Amino acid sequence: MDVGVEALKRDPLNAVLTVVEEYEVAEGPLNGLPVAIKDNIVTAGIRTTAASKILENYVPPYDATVITRLKEAGARIVAKTNLDEFAMGSTGENSAFGPTKNPHDPSLVPGGSSSGSAAVVGAGMVPVALGSDTGGSIRLPAAFCNVWGFKPTYGRVSRYGLIAFASSLDVIGPIAGDPDILARVMEVISGPDPADATTLDSPPFSYERSREFSARGRYRVGFVKEHLEIVSDEIREKFLALIDRIGQRGNGVVEVSLRSGKFALPAYYVIATAEASSNLARYDGVRYGVRVDGKDLTDTYVRTRSLFGKEVKRRILVGTFVLSHGYYEAYYLKALKARRLIKEEIASWFKEVDVVLTPTNPTLPPKLGAGFSPVEYYRLDTLTVPFSLAGVPALNVPLGDFVGVQVVAPYEEDERAVGFGMYVSEIL
Ligand code: GLN
Repeated sequence: MDVGVEALKRDPLNAVLTVVEEYEVAEGPLNGLPVAIKDNIVTAGIRTTAASKILENYVPPYDATVITRLKEAGARIVAKTNLDEFAMGSTGENSAFGPTKNPHDPSLVPGGSSSGSAAVVGAGMVPVALGSDTGGSIRLPAAFCNVWGFKPTYGRVSRYGLIAFASSLDVIGPIAGDPDILARVMEVISGPDPADATTLDSPPFSYERSREFSARGRYRVGFVKEHLEIVSDEIREKFLALIDRIGQRGNGVVEVSLRSGKFALPAYYVIATAEASSNLARYDGVRYGVRVDGKDLTDTYVRTRSLFGKEVKRRILVGTFVLSHGYYEAYYLKALKARRLIKEEIASWFKEVDVVLTPTNPTLPPKLGAGFSPVEYYRLDTLTVPFSLAGVPALNVPLGDFVGVQVVAPYEEDERAVGFGMYVSEIL
């Protein structure tokens, strides 16, 4: 196995965009823990590109809140990792700096959009990395790279310094080789932040509480009926084997239903593109990053914004369309209604059960360069977007062989999701 900073420099997987120079690390509970950071999280004095030509040489003047907290806790930031441009993608292939390879089979994609973060953890180069998740970008690559990945409750971790994609969905979270380190890092990065008005007014994630939940050892567990009907055979088999094992340990297992689930993917791709079209308006060649001068202001905008990659342009076009006069009600408002339905249906599960399980990935990772249609790639997010729309915590537990299972817990019950993951790791 290729381990450590030297491996990050060699970077056989094209997972790293910048290796961070050695610097003085603070004393703190994380004790010099090496952490890799998705390159859409800003780092003072260290180039931050969002894997886009438009930010190729952008060196931020400030640290994201999660970076400040990691540094204060004694972590060592070692690398900025590759991603789908502006976190838009499910395979890692939309990076302007080339695709990342899967650490367990270089002919396969690592999953996206936190492709580099999942790959360096999967390869054992670092014990933990930060990713961001808007519709599945932590959980899907974690599943494809056989590692742990956690999307916290929306607002549990500050977004200050996260380059915005879809602000009502974006969350930062950890990707790790085991649930213990993942929980330790959650404890450090979470909690209210005056710089992000959408952070929840609740205490930081508690490692202790997640451990306590993992030790309880008697749970009521739900699994999503509709999701099992659409996954591929090898995934269904592995998932049902886990459900069996959980049942044999004396836990209650019941089926739950997500009837509104069929609206999740279309609603997500309306809401996320709408928000993206607005967030990406700031890349005009005046305020940030690269400017390509043209013959007048409009021409400068056109030339500069032509630096966006194909998928980013597609999202800006779709997002602008769904928000435009005459279509706003038909698409955007309808998507918001679907989102409310999904959220209510998911919340209702937890009257009967403690956690809900569902596969993370509907299929095994595609081959690199398979060249499917955009919608086929969007389908990889089918099982992750419902929980993004609902804002609830969801943890990917790796089952091996590129298959992951999500542990979903109620809103703000992040410790429950991670604690149940710890329990599963003990019975696997
Ligand atoms: N794959 C989804 C998308 O392309 C999710 C991306 C993400 O979570 N950042 O929008």
